[in-house]
Amino acid sequence: MDAAQLLAGSRRALAKAITLVESTRDDHRAQADALLDAVLPYTGRSIRIGISGVPGVGKSTFIESFGLQLVAAGFKLAVLAVDPSSPIAGGSILGDKTRMERLSREENAFIRPSPSAGALGGVAHRTRESLLLCEAAGFDVILVETVGVGQSEYEVAAMVDFFLVLMLPNAGDELQGIKRGIMELADALVINKSDGDGAGLAARTRQHYQNALHLLTHGGFWTPRVLCCSALENHGIDAVWDMICEYRRDAEANGALGERRARQNGAWLKRLIAELLEQRFRTDPRVRAELPLLEQQVLRGELTPRAAARRLLP
Ligand code: GDP
Repeated sequence: MDAAQLLAGSRRALAKAITLVESTRDDHRAQADALLDAVLPYTGRSIRIGISGVPGVGKSTFIESFGLQLVAAGFKLAVLAVDPSSPIAGGSILGDKTRMERLSREENAFIRPSPSAGALGGVAHRTRESLLLCEAAGFDVILVETVGVGQSEYEVAAMVDFFLVLMLPNAGDELQGIKRGIMELADALVINKSDGDGAGLAARTRQHYQNALHLLTHGGFWTPRVLCCSALENHGIDAVWDMICEYRRDAEANGALGERRARQNGAWLKRLIAELLEQRFRTDPRVRAELPLLEQQVLRGELTPRAAARRLLP
């Protein structure tokens, strides 16, 4: 695969490159690694933004409004997704072609659904690599979308510069799927659907979360903010972008952005090592031959789990 076309900003080359990093074939993996090595010096220049929230909160409506505004301002925008739900359990969050229809027609917007195969960790790794490819192709803003359930939020927060959680007006914390851990991940909470009858509720909800956030010590220079917007009526969206720009400017000036990315890379390295070790272990011919028998012996109580593990990992 030719890195030059990707670096020249070809969308076709980008789509093909992402298909390559998503592939589970060994020869594709080798090509993907070579490509990533070649383009690495051209990565890191975008602002990476994570967006999460429960289904129905308005993520795709928000991304469309936000994205159209950025494109109109002359930015190139890529939208990636980390989707923990299996296709059987309700489908990929970006699988529905009608989502973000207007944005997807824009020349300077690139929308890519979630990779579907494999464990969540694997999906998230592929999205990280896709993010680097988008940067190499010259995209200025990368949005990584995820559904607000469970582990995927941690995965996405660990690959972005700014993590934004969309919320509904006046729903209890449980309804929002908000756990304390998620609050700690958020650089901003944005109460969507602040329009019509929802506007008053949204303002009160904002106050509620603003107070709650004050109780959390986030650490670092940035104090998480709570904003209101209406993705449908397209107001309050520019304030979200202004806030992210302010964060980026300050984080760059005081070194926090570089530190955050370095920390993320360190954690990614550890995870990759653990995954590669496990993969090697599982595909080792001796392990494949002996593991089923050892498992049986453990189940029958003839061998302790530790003794069985030690036989496979002397
Ligand atoms: P997602 O599941 O989080 O991607 O949510 P969608 O963007 O598909 O939106 C779910 C529903 O909420 C749709 O019917 C949208 O039209 C509606 N919606 C999204 N944003 C707003 C908003 O700002 N105000 C109102 N009133 N409705 C909205």
